[in-house]
Amino acid sequence: MADDFYVFGKTLSIAPRQGVDISKDQIVFAATLCDIAIMFYLFHEFAHIFIDEDIEEELDKKDHEYLADYFAMVSSLTTLSEGHPLTVVYAGCESALLVFSMVDELRLFPPYSTHPPFSDRIKSLRQFLKEDIEDEGSYNAIISIGHATETIFNNIVNNVDKRSEKYSDFISSKKKEIDTEIDYLLDLHWNWESTRLTKEMKVINDKNYICPNYATFTNEMMVLLRYGGHYELIHEKLLSVYTATLSKSQELSEHTDECTRVQFFESFNKMKLIYNFVTSLSEPLATVFGDVLQNRKN
Ligand SMILES: [Zn+2]
Repeated sequence: MADDFYVFGKTLSIAPRQGVDISKDQIVFAATLCDIAIMFYLFHEFAHIFIDEDIEEELDKKDHEYLADYFAMVSSLTTLSEGHPLTVVYAGCESALLVFSMVDELRLFPPYSTHPPFSDRIKSLRQFLKEDIEDEGSYNAIISIGHATETIFNNIVNNVDKRSEKYSDFISSKKKEIDTEIDYLLDLHWNWESTRLTKEMKVINDKNYICPNYATFTNEMMVLLRYGGHYELIHEKLLSVYTATLSKSQELSEHTDECTRVQFFESFNKMKLIYNFVTSLSEPLATVFGDVLQNRKN
């Protein structure tokens, strides 16, 4: 399963299995859990429509999520239990949340501001389950498969995170990829207006003529952040480039020869691109990336 997740982490898609023995029963069971998890997501989204229309609007946005999970669990347990034991249906519901909890834990993507962490949603699901099922024996049977499912997912996270050499290789190649992409975007967008001017004018005119392409840079960075994942690597890169360009532009600002002035604007504008991107982020990204700019007053 760790290998599976490695493949998933690399491609962000469910790739065919290779090199691991898996029995037919295991495949059928995994497919069943996936089917139930998909139904759980659907019920969850339907529940939002119902909650938005029928429940008073004073509910906190995060409570909407807990409540939608609860409706999704109850709907799954009542409608899917004809074909499957309740324990399996519940395991499917928890799996739906555990997949994302695993992504949370590996910090592949930035946190959502409007959604509670998935680990809290699992706790809340178990609490609702306890309140709903009066018979202690049934509750214990169902919750024990919840714990078993959680253990499987935790093992995957531990394997991926701490022991797998492949994963650290993967991270360092991902880091190279992200570094190259960000360098490319900065090179492409630092002197947007100036490309329309002659080289002489670039040098003669002041910085108003060498204008960074804020909008395009920010859009492309957002795409990288939202769909590429690995926001910690992006953060790390921005921090190092911002600090480097800041000190370079300070060091060059005193020189007046033409060549140095171009270098100065290059550093200065790259810094401005990063500054503009970071300050355009909404919460919780604004907080996550805020410290990239912490050196700005130094
Ligand atoms: Zn939701």
